[in-house]
Formats: sequence, C-alpha cells, structure tokens
Amino acid sequence: MSDKFAFAQELDAQDELKHFRSRFFIPQHEGKEVIYLCGNSLGLQPKTASEAIQKELNKWADYGVEGHFVGEQPWWQFRKPIKPLLAEILGAKPTEVAIMNSLTTNLHLLLVSFYNPQGKRKKVLMEAGAFPSDQYALETHLHFRGVSPDENIIEVAPQKNEHILQTEQILETIEKLADELALVIFGGVNYYTGQVFEMQKITQKAHQVGAVVGFDLAHAVGNVKLDLHAWQVDFATWCSYKYLNSGPGGVSGIFIHEKHHNKDLPRFGGWWGQVESERFLMKKGFKPIPDADGWQLSNEPILPMALHQASLQVFHEATMDKLVAKSNLLTHYLYEWLIEFAGEHIEIITPKNPPHRAAQLSIFAKSKGKELHQYLLKNGIITDWREPNVVRMAPVPLYNTFTEVFLTAQKVAEFYK
Ligand SMILES: *Cc1c(COP(=O)(O)O)cnc(C)c1O
Repeated sequence: MSDKFAFAQELDAQDELKHFRSRFFIPQHEGKEVIYLCGNSLGLQPKTASEAIQKELNKWADYGVEGHFVGEQPWWQFRKPIKPLLAEILGAKPTEVAIMNSLTTNLHLLLVSFYNPQGKRKKVLMEAGAFPSDQYALETHLHFRGVSPDENIIEVAPQKNEHILQTEQILETIEKLADELALVIFGGVNYYTGQVFEMQKITQKAHQVGAVVGFDLAHAVGNVKLDLHAWQVDFATWCSYKYLNSGPGGVSGIFIHEKHHNKDLPRFGGWWGQVESERFLMKKGFKPIPDADGWQLSNEPILPMALHQASLQVFHEATMDKLVAKSNLLTHYLYEWLIEFAGEHIEIITPKNPPHRAAQLSIFAKSKGKELHQYLLKNGIITDWREPNVVRMAPVPLYNTFTEVFLTAQKVAEFYK
C-alpha cells in the first residue's frame, strides 16, 4: 500500500491545478483539514468571497442608493461582467444566460414559457427518481395548468436490477411518445447515481419528434463539460452552491437558447426584464429585453451575485477543460482504489467511465452503510448519506487531491476489516 500512497503523492506533485486548493477554505476536524468529498452538495468557500461581499457592503455604506450608479460595477448592471464567466462554463453565449432566483423557482418560470400543452401533445418525460424538488415542481405546475400529472408525467426508469438508464431506453421512450410528447425535462447528472445523461442525443431525439427540451443542471454545471448552445438545448437552469461554490442558497441562473429570444413566448415578466431604455419610464406595456435577460423579474441580489462572481473567476482561471481532465483522473483513482481495497463490501452504482460519470461516485454499501458514513465522518472524511444505502463521494478537481482519494479508499477498507 505504501507504493500506492507514494504514487498518489506523485500524482499530486504533477497536478497542474494543485495551487487552486489554497484558494479555498478547507474545514477542520480535530485540528486537521478534513477530506471534503461533499462539493456536489455544498462547494467550499473561495477565500475571495468575504472580500467580494465586503466591497459591496462598503459601497452601500459609502454611497447608499448611489451604489446603483457608481464604481466599476454599478449595481444596476451588476450582472454584466458575470454573465460571460457563466456562459463559458455552460457553452452558451452571454446573451443566452440570465442570473436570477433559485433553481426551483426558475423551473416554474421556465415551464411557463416552454411547457405548451396542446391537443394530444401534453406529455412530459422525466427521469424516474429525479430530485424531489423537480418532481414536486412538475407535479404542481401541471396541476395548475389543468393537466393531470398522473396521466401526463412519464418517467423513464432503469431496467430491473439496474441502477442506471441506458441512453437507448431514453431515446426509444421519446420515439414512442412521439406527437404526444410536449416536453423532455431531464437532469444533466442524476443526483443519486451520479449518472451523466447524454444531453446532446436526448435533445436531438426530442427535437425529431417535435418536443421541447430542458435540463436541470444542478449537478452538471461546473462538473461536466457543457455545450448548450451547440447542442441546441431549448432551456436550462441550475443552482450555484454545489459545484460552483457560490455559497449556501446561492443565486441560480437560466439558459434560453438564442433561437427563442425573439419569439413571443408566454412568460411571467417583471421590470428587470423590460428593455433598459424603457425600464425607468414607469410606463404600461411589457417589452422584454430580446435575450435571456428578458426573463429576469427583479433587480439583482448584489451580495449573492458578488459571491457568485468571486467563484466563477476561479473557474475562469482554471478552465473547464483542465478541471474536467483532472476530475476524470481523480474519480478514476477513487473508483479503482475503492474496488481494490473494499470491492467485496460495496457496489459502485455510478457508471464506471466518462462521459457517463463525472466527479461523483455513489457507493452502495452491501452492509452497514450508515455506519460507514459515520465512521468516515469521525475520521474527518465528509461524504454524504442518501437513503436507503448510498454514500456519495464527490472528489472535486479544484480542491481535492489524489492523496485524499487514496486515504478515503483506505479508510473504507479499514472500516470493513
Ligand atoms: C440541489 C437540487 C435542487 C435544489 O433546488 P433549490 O431550488 O436550489 O433548493 C433541485 N433540483 C436538483 C436536481 C438538485 O440537484
């Protein structure tokens, strides 16, 4: 084992992203840095976060309402330099991105514009076992629109005794629903299994049958390489507090493909979506900004946006290409070492290889799953527990190391010894 430990240390020494770890606060346990494998749930705090907020607090203290108009990033246009940073991560044009609200709120707003049940085309296709908030949003939204959720939400589930969905299965279901299918709304990455869905193929097939396609990217953004514009995805939303490290409850965002910007889509509007030249005229008549900003309702929440910006700048420096390359290796080693050291006690239900998995492994414990999670916690390894028997581990390329991944696999083995 010591050979392998030396090898892990060697991988860390060669890691060209290694200096990014020092840009984050790492929580402590008994005087030592924890091994934090929960970046899929709440990403760690960039050290620039408090400075970013303090700057805006100072501006508020010094200028009051004038803060909307002074400084290099006046509040009334605070989003402008942030959007290109986010667009980079999404594979989008800055005009296709708006920063607003929270994820579930945005899901509802996007459904207002993109769920258009007509005649027999009413059905919505989702992955079975989607995150509960998404299930509740779809159920209540359809109900509100006078469409029966029981009859019209179709869930595609893994085959018997399997944990993951075959892409073929998803595509066949879309083809079968054909002209009854109004909308496909899928996760980019399933929160429970860590499976990365083939978003481009799903989008193509759904468009072939005339359906609209949206993705919930909560677990995908900042984790997998996205190319939403080129893939022709109609819309998407996400949260910023998981892989994007923008703080608990951080501000969400939406993607609206450019092809929809000049359509007269139904929407719930607000003054911040009004064309800028007329926003302050306080006149009747909603004229939306002809891009994703036209969906923004309210003026910007400056403090959460300052946090978001501080974190996105780190991503910009690291680049998604390099992050994904390291992530693939890091998770690969976690996988290999877990199987080698503790393979008889666990089953990893996440697909083994990219592009079907990213920075998360879901470990199904054949026995004593909850105790395993507790044991790791007691030993300063933070993972997360999901009923009925899964420990999720997310090695994040910005701040996790090969040595940490090695030590984690070793602790799992030690627990079962
Ligand atoms: C984390 C997560 C959410 C959380 O929704 P909020 O509105 O941010 O509380 C919703 N959906 C998915 C798929 C998630 O992973």
